Amino acid sequence: MSGTAAACIILILFLLYKLIEPGLLFYVPELTPVIRLALLVLMIVLGMLYALLLICISASFKIRNCSVLLLYYLQYLFPAVKLIGKWMGYTQAVCHAYIHVMNRLVLQKKIQIAPESILVLVPHCLQWDKCPHKITRDVSNCRQCGHCPIGTLLTVTRSMHTSLAVATGGTLARQIIQQNHPKAIIAIACERDLISGMEDVMPLPVLGLLNSRPNGPCLNTDVDITALRNLLTTITGEEYERT
Ligand code: SF4
Repeated sequence: MSGTAAACIILILFLLYKLIEPGLLFYVPELTPVIRLALLVLMIVLGMLYALLLICISASFKIRNCSVLLLYYLQYLFPAVKLIGKWMGYTQAVCHAYIHVMNRLVLQKKIQIAPESILVLVPHCLQWDKCPHKITRDVSNCRQCGHCPIGTLLTVTRSMHTSLAVATGGTLARQIIQQNHPKAIIAIACERDLISGMEDVMPLPVLGLLNSRPNGPCLNTDVDITALRNLLTTITGEEYERT
């Protein structure tokens, strides 16, 4: 809770500073660097709190429900850190670190989940934009023609009896989760959708995998199939037939 409180204090100070910054610059410009320095010190303290969290995670710190507490902690802390990251020009790095930590929190519990209880949830933008087949309601409509990663995802998930679903957005994703009742999810998406989705379904275990966007956002995106296989292998505790 101390980390959350620190983040809130910094957020309030940051907003207050932004509010008074024009006046400071006009009336007492010599004070501006001092206030900036004070904010920097507070950010370092926040960074140290984060470092403490990471040490706890990597040392498999054992407290009852520790992971769940940490997940909620991160959920409340993230907006403040993201704001600071945006201010400093590190939004993407902050998002990547957040997803990495969320994944670590799930993986360090060493849970093993039956493949049948895992849902691989992917975004519609992975589908080739000229594909005539409607796969959002039923992914088995894919003809596995090789034009996009959906066909390979279908092969991988079928080979280990894991569910695969394609969502066009958060509402459909929530519907799919309600219908499937998975015990764990492997979600593929961009930073923004991944983070909001991971927070939406908390405390259900979710492993996030970023898609790549060689054609820009939301168009014919791609995913690292090997990374997906590794996540599936880890969370099921099973090696399975490579296809
Ligand atoms: S692999 Fe499936 S979804 Fe992708 S273009 Fe071919 S038929 Fe369409």
